[in-house]
Amino acid sequence: MEYRLLAEIFSKIESTTKRTAMTNFLSELLGKTPPDLIDKVVYLVQGKLYPDFLGIEIGMAEKLVIRAVSLATGLSAREIEEDLSRTGDIGDTAYEELRKAKPEIKEPLTVSDVYTALDRIAKTAGPGSIEVKINMLAQLIKRAIPLEAKYIARTVTKKLRLGVADMTILDALAIVYGGGRQSRPAVERAYNVTSDLGAVAQAIARGGVEAVKKFKVTVGKPIRPMLAERLRSPAEILAKTGGECVAEYKYDGERVQIHKQGNDVILFSRRIENITNQYPDVVQLVQNTITADSAIIEGEIVAFDPETNEMRPFQELMRRRRKYGIEEMVKEFPASIFYFDCVYESGRDLTGLSFPERRKVLERIVKRTDRARIVEHKIVRNVDEMEKFFEESVQSGTEGILCKSIGPESIYQAGSRGFLWIKFKREYRSEMTDTVDLVVVGAYYGRGKRAGVYGSLLMAVYSPDTDTFKTITRLGAGFTDKDLAELPKMLEPYKIEKRHPRVEAKEKPDVWFVPAVVLEVIGAEITLSPLHTTGFNIFRPDSGLAIRFPRFTGRYRLDKSPEDATTEREIIEMYESRLRKVA
Ligand code: AMP
Repeated sequence: MEYRLLAEIFSKIESTTKRTAMTNFLSELLGKTPPDLIDKVVYLVQGKLYPDFLGIEIGMAEKLVIRAVSLATGLSAREIEEDLSRTGDIGDTAYEELRKAKPEIKEPLTVSDVYTALDRIAKTAGPGSIEVKINMLAQLIKRAIPLEAKYIARTVTKKLRLGVADMTILDALAIVYGGGRQSRPAVERAYNVTSDLGAVAQAIARGGVEAVKKFKVTVGKPIRPMLAERLRSPAEILAKTGGECVAEYKYDGERVQIHKQGNDVILFSRRIENITNQYPDVVQLVQNTITADSAIIEGEIVAFDPETNEMRPFQELMRRRRKYGIEEMVKEFPASIFYFDCVYESGRDLTGLSFPERRKVLERIVKRTDRARIVEHKIVRNVDEMEKFFEESVQSGTEGILCKSIGPESIYQAGSRGFLWIKFKREYRSEMTDTVDLVVVGAYYGRGKRAGVYGSLLMAVYSPDTDTFKTITRLGAGFTDKDLAELPKMLEPYKIEKRHPRVEAKEKPDVWFVPAVVLEVIGAEITLSPLHTTGFNIFRPDSGLAIRFPRFTGRYRLDKSPEDATTEREIIEMYESRLRKVA
């Protein structure tokens, strides 16, 4: 099969934005492609050589392509660069330059020629590899006609953007090899359980619909994730889920699909990239806490430190998205894993089982530890229960809750967004830019690294109206080891048996104090919470205000008396003034 045919169809596809026209062009192409080549053609249509999850990319810089075009045509790199600044597109420039160069009679390039050359370019690495890549590309371009050079140049620079969606390719496959649209669901399912369009194309081209129906969930091939819909109120959610559902904490971290076979573990991101190397600590957690020999499990990686019992914002986790210095990041931003689903276990595909059945498997194969947990969850049957659980969830540092159907229909719908999972997020929040001065009114004993010292402190604001101290947050972050060692001594004189009469609290700390010590604190935002008494019943019945992600700035405000602390009124004003609707 000649690459020219591919280039001509790419050109036709580019000339339209209509999905039906695109599907027709694609059908024409795939219909003419021999089955043993169809996987490669499908990847090339997407500007790739392999499915994404293998992480093999061509990715040459434009500068290098200019040098290759120069070598292939004998034109100066400078001239080519000038043309590029005019066209702004490396493909158009390659096309122009090849037209300018003396035309030769060329042996036609086949799809295999192009694929093999690109594959070698992609896999060439190490010292001196740049020159080798440039030479290989120059050889290829030398053999290409202008139209072919255009698409080769775009492919190697990852700029082939034909706009062909995965779903359009599935449509075309169903039409050409599946006998029509009725086979579309089977084709899509095969794709959803393997994330490999090339493999699906090859199977259907060789064996028709029967072949794709045999596709199974397999360890090592990522399954396309099930996604959640969104509703605005607990009442709507309950109406959709038939009056009862499981509500789970919606952790603010990175979704991960874990594939385990013996001791081998692969982690895939939500976008189906292999992220195993970024999370050696999570790999270890999985090895230590998943007892099944082979399994595919979903969870959320969270910047959560069990020693302080604190969830840090998603941004901290994102600092771990890097190639180098991973070990340091593991220490600086420790991660925990919260498992929430299991789609495969020891040879069994669980996607067709209901959520409660999958959940049972999950509970059976997870050995829980501080750092590896199953998500917090609860069956809820009415609005009150759901709201209460939601507030609890948000207060512990999450984004809200995910409500999941529990009826027999609640299968794992790979690759689809539906109402079997419904998210309910905080609607309002108010960002904090200023520090506040808060009074210590209680403390919780620490565990792990913090055994023997306080793990966190219960903090309050002052209300001059009632002359009381109202709680607003639990503070565990920002303390140095020295702070942690000194705090018990500093607070010892104020320790009391019971809650101080001037303290209004719903929380029950391990130790109470007379309000005396003031600390400077910065938080990320102020949210509604039923657990704290500041601003209680003002913005929502049975709810007060809380500071989310509080951190000690290092400043002991020994200069301040507790009555000089930030007041309840100031917090209410901060909340109101910065209140913004979150989409
Ligand atoms: P969103 O990204 O807003 O569409 O919300 C869905 C995402 O929430 C998922 O992709 C997960 O990354 C994340 N998530 C957090 N907690 C859970 C949970 N308990 N169940 C499912 N997904 C969760």
